[in-house]
Amino acid sequence: MDLDQWKKDGYYSATNKTLLQSEKLGSYCTKWMVAAQGPAFAAFRGLTLYVFELDVTPDPSTGGAINASSTTQPVEANTLCFYQSTLAEGKASTVAHELGHALGLTHAFPMPAKYEDGEIQKLIGPKDNVNIVLPGQKAALAKAIAAAATPPTPVQQADIQAKQVAVQVSEAQIIKADGELAIFANNPFKFTKQSTTNIMDYDAGDRRCLYWHWQWALLQADITAYYGTITAAR
Ligand SMILES: [Zn+2]
Repeated sequence: MDLDQWKKDGYYSATNKTLLQSEKLGSYCTKWMVAAQGPAFAAFRGLTLYVFELDVTPDPSTGGAINASSTTQPVEANTLCFYQSTLAEGKASTVAHELGHALGLTHAFPMPAKYEDGEIQKLIGPKDNVNIVLPGQKAALAKAIAAAATPPTPVQQADIQAKQVAVQVSEAQIIKADGELAIFANNPFKFTKQSTTNIMDYDAGDRRCLYWHWQWALLQADITAYYGTITAAR
């Protein structure tokens, strides 16, 4: 990565030798990925791991590692950033914790209702809106196809294509929202914070050492859904 460009974009403080604005890092990584690796790499949709030799300011509250793109997403189209402090001895459970998020696990304890309900509302509201406009978009597409000459004129062809894209975008939004809602539904078991030795718990004493059986099943289901099998990339 190009530190000079990072400085120019305001992501790196030379004074503190740290990364800034960590919450924007996910989109920055995506931009970098597209620019530096070209379309072939941009089309890669698996889990992309970034290991930085720098730290972030302010230090992420989760112990030095954040899933920069979002809290929890399936393996598809996800990035995961680790910083220098994450690589320190004794931080292995943090790496496992963040990987768990990236592969579809939420925390082992309940988040404040305000947070979790807010996240779910953010998904349901837009999904409901899309569901309202989608039938109209499909009808408009069918009408344009029916009204077009055989073969369609260039203008008609362009119109049909634009309407097809609109339908595809709406359908993709619904699939994405359903996928994220499924993450909440798939993680139903919650315990008091810092009361377990689970990797997805928070623990100041570094006792975290295991995933529960149902969590393993979720991790494997996420990998299988994307790669075809647990062990082999397709
Ligand atoms: Zn977490």
